[in-house]
Amino acid sequence: MIQDVVTFQQIKPKEVALSFSDISPTWAKRFEECAGKLPKPMSLTWIRWYFELKRASKCIVGEAYNYSSSYIHNCGECDEIGWRFMLYFSLHLNSKLKDNQQRFVTHWNLEHV
Ligand SMILES: [Zn+2]
Repeated sequence: MIQDVVTFQQIKPKEVALSFSDISPTWAKRFEECAGKLPKPMSLTWIRWYFELKRASKCIVGEAYNYSSSYIHNCGECDEIGWRFMLYFSLHLNSKLKDNQQRFVTHWNLEHV
């Protein structure tokens, strides 16, 4: 019986996986506030986001690393995901952006928690 309880507790952390707003709260809030609609290309907000997404330390993945660009050398998957966020945002591919967000959350929970 005791053995069973221990096993259950070991499995539990998987159920409380981090969400996107736990990992990159500022970016998650931005996406929430625009209600899934990306800012209009070349609008002020768009330009501001674009330049932040281009910078490894300020982009979505960078925020998760506490505004550091260290992941470029330390995690190929994070580097790739960060690059894709920038690409999909600049091409205004909202659904691809959402897929990439999910890929990031899954990867983060598997490798960086
Ligand atoms: Zn990573």
